[in-house]
Amino acid sequence: MDPLIDPFARRIDYLRISVTDRCDFRCTYCMSEHMTFLPKKELLTLEELERLCTAFVRLGVRKLRITGGEPLVRRNILSFFEGMSQHLGHGLDELTLTTNGSQLDRFAAPLAQAGVRRVNVSLDTLDADRFKAITRWGSLDKVLRGIDAARAAGLRVKINTVALKGTNEDELFDLVAWAAREELDLTFIEVMPMGDMGDGTDGTLRLDQYWPLRDLRARLAERYTLRDLAHRTGGPARYVDLAETGQQIGFITPLTHNFCESCNRVRLTCTGQLYMCLGQEDMADLRAPLRASPDDAALEDAIRAAIARKPKGHDFDYSRQRADGQMSRHMSHTGG
Ligand code: SAM
Ligand code: SF4
Repeated sequence: MDPLIDPFARRIDYLRISVTDRCDFRCTYCMSEHMTFLPKKELLTLEELERLCTAFVRLGVRKLRITGGEPLVRRNILSFFEGMSQHLGHGLDELTLTTNGSQLDRFAAPLAQAGVRRVNVSLDTLDADRFKAITRWGSLDKVLRGIDAARAAGLRVKINTVALKGTNEDELFDLVAWAAREELDLTFIEVMPMGDMGDGTDGTLRLDQYWPLRDLRARLAERYTLRDLAHRTGGPARYVDLAETGQQIGFITPLTHNFCESCNRVRLTCTGQLYMCLGQEDMADLRAPLRASPDDAALEDAIRAAIARKPKGHDFDYSRQRADGQMSRHMSHTGG
């Protein structure tokens, strides 16, 4: 079967799937405290998600990342991982997830058993009160227990930390030292203009939170010798090596770096919409062809037609503010 190649000759072999828009946290940069979620009946069933992902694997997708919302709060999510793990070694190279870690203490071992080898855990602070302030509903202790459980199960853990001006700026070196001590990979993410965060009266306006990773990197360089690493993932991540500790630190800077030319990924929402670019509104509905027939021919055609529309690049731009640069959908919908 021909692989998925977009109009800019990029091979699409990475699919990120948001299996639910729901979450047990309410991170201030991600959603409002009173977030309205989709009616459950609009979600694809896990069987439908499996059928869709299987079609993508048949079309050459080699890596699946399960995300959300919080993927581990979706009922029976393990059965989905178990189903998808059947493709490992048969087209699929990697099955992985991004989680807030709140449920990892009970899911880590069965996930490892289902063939998951690496997990990304989002953690922005090591201070319990601050953690509560950022996530509104989360418990730092529980997440740290989840990280321990993941490592005990043999999973490689990468920490994703959103760089938040005035919030975790003063923890930069503590986070780096903690990651070194615990042998965890660490990647910083620049906050992105996704979704409507409310009117900002609770102090959560996006522009106030924007801490450019350029600045974070400069701060890091005051204490460490940074060496750029060549390895790239096809995504917005860049890596440096800290000479003093041998640690690798990642930077995800969708706003200040142009990573689109090497983009290899598309994103599927829990309602079956395929977003060809995180920073564009264009999407293709795959639910209709999925439900129209038990045969996958129309579905595969719809996937190919969508890939043929993948744009050259994204439109994020803080200077343009709300007008067109800001995305109206939430990160929890497309999965980040
Ligand atoms: N709930 C899971 C979690 O938090 O890891 C998975 C979904 S979450 C949307 C995926 C990632 O997106 C997390 O690392 C989170 O910190 C990040 N994220 C959410 N909103 C963001 C924003 N506005 N800008 C940058 N990163 C964001
Ligand atoms: Fe939930 Fe993840 Fe969004 Fe936080 S970042 S509210 S954990 S989906």
